[in-house]
Amino acid sequence: MAIRTIREIGDPVLNKVSKEVKEITPRVQDLIDDMFETMYEANGVGLAAVQVGVLKRIVVIDATGEDPILLINPRIVEMSGEQEGNEACLSVPGKTGSVIRPNYVKVVAQDEELNEFEIEGEELLARAFCHELEHLDGHLYVEKVEGELMDVEPPEDED
Ligand SMILES: [Zn+2]
Repeated sequence: MAIRTIREIGDPVLNKVSKEVKEITPRVQDLIDDMFETMYEANGVGLAAVQVGVLKRIVVIDATGEDPILLINPRIVEMSGEQEGNEACLSVPGKTGSVIRPNYVKVVAQDEELNEFEIEGEELLARAFCHELEHLDGHLYVEKVEGELMDVEPPEDED
């Protein structure tokens, strides 16, 4: 496994549409392992393959730090409710902004054997599903921010 370089806003790859995964090759398996490692190393809640420069429809999410979720070729099939809250992105370092999202989202995706499954999320997980799936179509949350994009307060030094 290896940590991959996270592409940042301004890199044109982030605006490209990712392609469907049709086969789990050893390279794709390595990519998935590296995506989890890269996300955890960066303390992120989610990461899409495009964020490490690979245009494949693969997303990893972990909203709690203990619940890794792999989504291959995911699509949203149901959503309801509304939540407003601050969002951030590993590709937009040091920034945060308020985005309105559905409070409940149901996703259909494929697993590591390309078997289809359904997964539901509320609150932070619903937000992560929306955010990460938009990466696969070349969009960043900054396009949806209500008001201004703000600087994240730097963490206080621990004595
Ligand atoms: Zn993001």
